[in-house]
Amino acid sequence: MRYQDLSYWLSTVDEPLTPRPPLAGEAEADVVIVGAGYTGLWTAYYLAEADPTLRIVVLERQVAGFGASGRNGGWCSALLPTSLPALARQHGRDAAIAMQRAMHDTVREIGRVVVAEEIDCHWSYGGTVVLARSGPQLERARAAVAEAREFGFGPADLDLLGPDEAVARCAAEGVLGGTYTPHCAAVHPARLVRGLARAVERRGVTIHERTPVTAIRSGAAVTPAGTVRAPVVVRATEGYTPGLPGHRRAIAPVYSLMVATPPLPAATWEQIGLAERETFSDHRHVIIYGQRTANGRLAFGGRGAPYHFGSRILPGFDREPRVFAALRRTLGELFPVLGPDVPLTHAWGGPLGVARDWAASVGYHRADGLAWAGGYVGDGVGTSNLAGRTLADLIRGERTDLTRLPWVNHRSPRWEPEPLRWLAVNAGLRIMSSADQAESRTNRPSRRAAAFSRLLGH
Ligand SMILES: Cc1cc2nc3c(=O)[nH]c(=O)nc-3n(C[C@H](O)[C@H](O)[C@H](O)COP(=O)(O)OP(=O)(O)OC[C@H]3O[C@@H](n4cnc5c(N)ncnc54)[C@H](O)[C@@H]3O)c2cc1C
Repeated sequence: MRYQDLSYWLSTVDEPLTPRPPLAGEAEADVVIVGAGYTGLWTAYYLAEADPTLRIVVLERQVAGFGASGRNGGWCSALLPTSLPALARQHGRDAAIAMQRAMHDTVREIGRVVVAEEIDCHWSYGGTVVLARSGPQLERARAAVAEAREFGFGPADLDLLGPDEAVARCAAEGVLGGTYTPHCAAVHPARLVRGLARAVERRGVTIHERTPVTAIRSGAAVTPAGTVRAPVVVRATEGYTPGLPGHRRAIAPVYSLMVATPPLPAATWEQIGLAERETFSDHRHVIIYGQRTANGRLAFGGRGAPYHFGSRILPGFDREPRVFAALRRTLGELFPVLGPDVPLTHAWGGPLGVARDWAASVGYHRADGLAWAGGYVGDGVGTSNLAGRTLADLIRGERTDLTRLPWVNHRSPRWEPEPLRWLAVNAGLRIMSSADQAESRTNRPSRRAAAFSRLLGH
């Protein structure tokens, strides 16, 4: 496998993706971390920063950034998979507000580290514009702003845009308005994760690549080459978690797929906008997401790929011609200036982790020394940093504002056994995508989609 072929991003990192030496035999550490994506590496980063004497070992089956961290849309956002009302219902209003504020701070914190560690990941703090391109989408834009206001977040956090203001940011076709938040940066995701791997090594952390972990248990991470014994074991495997014994129903891997155009001419960018490299989307149900890359491409993705029976993850699932064709069609509808055959140079995808209750979580069970984080439902670029800082505090026994956040030690229920899981996840995907089609035909909000959202507790 050529790691460069896994995504446009991994093909444009500033280093060869030569694997680091694998684990060579039995070893001991103070903390062993399984998975070298953002979650594992941020955890290593903050632990090493807080206590440089800790012996920290990261075990990665492939190479750092092989998973979603090397393939994503590069939205370093303050988005949470659980809505503020849902968080407030479960944990109270103040906890919901604290969680959202912590996410706002997280975007700034990542920006700080990127500068401090000189990670050249094309960071651009341009915010996010989410367009409304139909009546129902405009209603959802207004509802999102009303909801933010109820929790005390003003226009400086989420602003309602009129049609002209929205078009001034992103001149897509048929824009009726939208929302804008400054709390997002566009990044080159693979450069971020690879730069982070080098940063943790500079702080004395050992990363073993091409080292698959076959089991995690209290005090040990087991690999075919030997066992790493450590009082603290961190599971940072996100969408890949079902591959570990005992965790088959912890997370459902759901695929998100992306495409990239060649660099577009300056004249095209004058028509499209995104001058501050705002990340962009619209208020449809089945999520789409895009960014203007630092070298003038459009990188654009969406959900909608099927969930695979038994939570299987296979290289072939990264490429789904039907989804790539739909992404190309959607790009053409958004930006007719791209022409009838939108030019594409890259297409890729990967799995992300969804917990049964759609809630991300981070936790540490001191009695058995097992820690975990994940279930970010496609919002992990920012959230994984908050997870890493929180895990560092939890593992070191510090009680801080971070360890009091409502997602800490949250236990999501397990997914249903198959075939129920397959039926439920794919039925949900179908309801949402047929709702989008119906709304664009009728210009009326889909009641089925609203009922389904309520069922999910959103
Ligand atoms: C196409 C796509 C687009 C996305 N877009 C965005 C976006 O724009 N913004 C956003 O916030 N989020 C986005 N996401 C989600 C985001 O990328 C993830 O939430 C985030 O990268 C998760 O990081 P992680 O470190 O927890 O997991 P990963 O990056 O998946 O890392 C897990 C690592 O664990 C390793 N591993 C797994 N099992 C084992 C084992 N048994 N032994 C050893 N190693 C193992 C894997 O090889 C992998 O490297 C997107 C995801 C995808 C797939």
